[in-house]
Amino acid sequence: ILLSIMMVGMGNLITLNVCIIASVNLLLPSHFLRLRSRLNKIEDLALQNRAFHIQNIDSDFLVTSASVKTLNDGLSAYAEKHWVFENDMQLSSRKFKNSTREIQLKEGLSIGGENKNTLLIGGPCSVESEAQIRSASELLQGLNLSVLRGGCYKPRTSPYSFQGMGLAGLELLSKMRDEFGHLIISEVRDATHVAEIIAHTDIIQIGAKAMYDQGILRACAKTQKPVMIKRGFGTTLQEFAQAAEFILSGGNSNVILCERGIRTFETKTRFTLDLCGVAWLQENTNLPIILDPSHAMGYAYGVASLTKACMAMSVEGLIIETHPDPSTAKSDAAQQLNFEEFRALHSELEPLAKCLGRNIK
Ligand code: PEP
Ligand code: MN
Repeated sequence: ILLSIMMVGMGNLITLNVCIIASVNLLLPSHFLRLRSRLNKIEDLALQNRAFHIQNIDSDFLVTSASVKTLNDGLSAYAEKHWVFENDMQLSSRKFKNSTREIQLKEGLSIGGENKNTLLIGGPCSVESEAQIRSASELLQGLNLSVLRGGCYKPRTSPYSFQGMGLAGLELLSKMRDEFGHLIISEVRDATHVAEIIAHTDIIQIGAKAMYDQGILRACAKTQKPVMIKRGFGTTLQEFAQAAEFILSGGNSNVILCERGIRTFETKTRFTLDLCGVAWLQENTNLPIILDPSHAMGYAYGVASLTKACMAMSVEGLIIETHPDPSTAKSDAAQQLNFEEFRALHSELEPLAKCLGRNIK
């Protein structure tokens, strides 16, 4: 059998070829041994070249440091293909993988790849009570939407503000998933509770202030659950893509980027939604994108029209804060849509999606 082994490099993306002759008679034990020795060889090369080893179903990649621009003899003997990169945006780049990554959220629901799905994620900023989160679940169910949001560990700017319900909130979200069947997204604030978030969510949200926390990034690299990284409000596009590389190079290929507004000189709106940056990410990275107009705008009045502008960019998802009674919300009260506004937004998005050839999920 010819097994192809791919090596990815920072500076170089390399593919290795190993020839293995297997007899049909020698099935399990020797087959296993041969796979093991193949793997050992790749692990050796990874170690010698200080490279990350990424295993795919039919190929292996080694990612070397960005400073490596040519293959040494050890690598070139095995490399099937290699890519040379100018900087540390490698696995996330279109140069490595030209099409947008397909991320399966559950059986029958994926984003990216060939499909034209756009998630309309809805739910409150924070989970506040069972009645509150259940009402959001009912809203989504009525609109046939797939993903419920709700923060349980809130990264507040003041220690005196509501900090979130913590584990009790995550348990409520899990209960809603069991009852309503939708997927759950909730944010991790710091590395102390990352295991809890991984266990309770279907999509892990890394908050804008948490995206530099390498404890979180490295923990999220060790699961296969999809991870949505929110762009920090002072984060360059290069730094944003490199945060994704921490997760991709650690072995989790299911990374989604979320633009949620950056800080500029403008103070009339909460942040400035960087749609130019989104166009750059679409051109240069292979990662699906979710847009968050709620946090960018900061005021409910602008959210519906911004969401339509985001939809027009054919992104893979939109995340909108909605609350049964926004004026009483314990966090981000000014920007949350009430349910009537959310339903109206959904009905305005439907024809737009149709015109763009996209499906709202
Ligand atoms: C949120 O989604 O409620 C949130 C806190 O977002 P961000 O991390 O973008 O500020
Ligand atoms: Mn919020």
